[in-house]
Amino acid sequence: MKVLITGGAGFIGSNFVHYWAKHHPKDKIRVLDALTYAGNYENLRPIEKKIEFIKGDITNREQLRQALKGVDAIVHFAAETHVDRSVFDPGSFWKTNVVGTRTLLEEAKKAKVDRFHQISSDEVYGELPLDSKERFSESTPYAPRPDNLYAISKAEADRVVKDFYKETGMFITISNCSNNYGPYQFPEKYVPLLVTNLIDGYKAPVHGDGRHVRDWIHTDDHARAVDLILQKGKPGETYLIGAENDRPNAYIAERVVYLSGKDAGWIKYVPDRHSNDRRYAIDATKIIEELGWKPEVSRDKFDDGLKETIGWYKKNEGWWRPLLQRRALISDGDKKVFAYMSLDREVGKTKLSFNPEETVAKDDRAKIALTEKLLTEENKRRFDLIKNKLKTRKWYLQTDSRKRKELMALAKNPRAAGFVEDLANRPDVIGDEKQLKLVKLEYAPKKYPIYGIAAWFEVETSSKEKWAQAIYSWGVGPKSGARFLVLIRQKGKISHLALLKDNQFPMGARVYGLAGGFPRMNESVFELILRKLNEDLGVDVKSESTKIGEIVNLGRVMPDAGMTSNHPLIYAITLDVSEKIFPPIRVGEAYDFEEDVVLWPVERLSELVNKVDDSYFLAALTRLTLGGISNIKLF
Ligand code: NAD
Repeated sequence: MKVLITGGAGFIGSNFVHYWAKHHPKDKIRVLDALTYAGNYENLRPIEKKIEFIKGDITNREQLRQALKGVDAIVHFAAETHVDRSVFDPGSFWKTNVVGTRTLLEEAKKAKVDRFHQISSDEVYGELPLDSKERFSESTPYAPRPDNLYAISKAEADRVVKDFYKETGMFITISNCSNNYGPYQFPEKYVPLLVTNLIDGYKAPVHGDGRHVRDWIHTDDHARAVDLILQKGKPGETYLIGAENDRPNAYIAERVVYLSGKDAGWIKYVPDRHSNDRRYAIDATKIIEELGWKPEVSRDKFDDGLKETIGWYKKNEGWWRPLLQRRALISDGDKKVFAYMSLDREVGKTKLSFNPEETVAKDDRAKIALTEKLLTEENKRRFDLIKNKLKTRKWYLQTDSRKRKELMALAKNPRAAGFVEDLANRPDVIGDEKQLKLVKLEYAPKKYPIYGIAAWFEVETSSKEKWAQAIYSWGVGPKSGARFLVLIRQKGKISHLALLKDNQFPMGARVYGLAGGFPRMNESVFELILRKLNEDLGVDVKSESTKIGEIVNLGRVMPDAGMTSNHPLIYAITLDVSEKIFPPIRVGEAYDFEEDVVLWPVERLSELVNKVDDSYFLAALTRLTLGGISNIKLF
């Protein structure tokens, strides 16, 4: 048999290639891997004579055609996999994990490959309550957390696979596995991070309260499970793989520290990671009972598995040291690179570093691509209602005919009709300003896996001044109008919050809020963070004297009263500042700058809470303190 292993130069993929070469010596193995920052040909070096390696991308049909020649079965590991990175670069997650999977299936079908196994994750099921005994099983509905872009893309990929099975009847199986550990894992992931930190004299970071639970499985057990599914699995079936080894992260840190011969002083609690789901645990009864799988490096031998893994990293410094230098570029399609992601070993999180030489990409406008095909009968009826309503609106009648046509076309598109319906039904005012006419419609580019529309209106104030105001609508997604709670850190300690101040209309009372707001239509959360820190706080985050420390995703808030579908994400951002940016800041002292910024001392937070009625701000503070994410204490 000739087996094609995609993503075979990554962590689990390469362990699987080693396993297959050992247990199926007669088979021919071909590896297809794009060698992204996470892929490493060195993982395959020890068995390179036994395999054929093709450097290629699963989204590239031509490369796939070459790779699929003569193949009997595919095991599909290739994916973008690091949750931390997905926040800043969601496009590549969608492209590889969803579009790539579909492309691979289509080309496999054309090449008459009839066996396909999809490697998926337990993260597609969302998170379990912390102190429950619940476990995921094959009947658990998919419910990825809405801010875990990795999980969303894997869930969507699985849907693509299941649809393809229904469409074509190809012999397809899926497995959803829990957290893997073992050799060849990129040192940004938890176990190798702990091990390599301790080797180099860094502490072992524990994120948040350390109670996040993961169900750990050794890559050998995972490989054996996939082997069994390939031999005995039934078409269209899903199998969950987990070794009933669910442990809190603090426990993992303790074991690795202990097995590395260090004491508890080597453990350091650090702020939580974003999208850090609470608990995953797997019920593997189906694969155990139906296929006879048994995890060998199981719960009871966990210490042995960890010891062996620690030993491997100690022996293979030449393998992991170069990886620590790797930086992944943040680039989106035709955008210019302006930041890099790499590992911050002290806190075990993704770090951003800036390249001030590079500029942010130019504005990009997507064209409306509407086809009459989308008009089902129901949409047609809905469209008629919207059309008739629009024709009664004064602002619509004053809008020029090209824009009116554009809006009508939008009303025909089932994905956008709801937005136009809202526009047609709402009063002719935005706040206290009269809506005169629609002047511009702006769209999020199609390359983003969301929709986003801004309708710009010319508006008139009571004193007859005119300007433009936009009404936005974003689908739920990473670019949903994120806002930021900015924590100022000096010499390693958070001392102040940076807030926006404003005068409330019409009373003139002082109000405080978060930085951030609606992104430009072609903007990622990361770009938004940079731009807003610059614009709102007047901070040059690219300069030598100011750096973004951590960005913690605090989840989504839904403050809207119905007009739009915006569910913005809120983030806490630590900004390491020096005196060059702000005046010398003394703890306990508040600063009110001429621009719209206030620096508020964290010790006096309770005073501030009484003044603030911004729902984003209060949600951010509450989540930050409840999550135990920072040294801030509210009460
Ligand atoms: P990894 O990031 O170490 O490896 C991914 C590999 O895919 C890399 O070698 C990379 O170069 C390659 N790749 C990325 N984009 C590609 C593209 N467009 N075309 C071709 N190759 C591409 O990841 P991993 O931890 O080994 O995970 C492998 C698979 O297992 C993934 O599908 C992941 O979702 C799944 N999974 C992982 C875990 C875990 O604990 N790590 C748990 C369950 C499931």
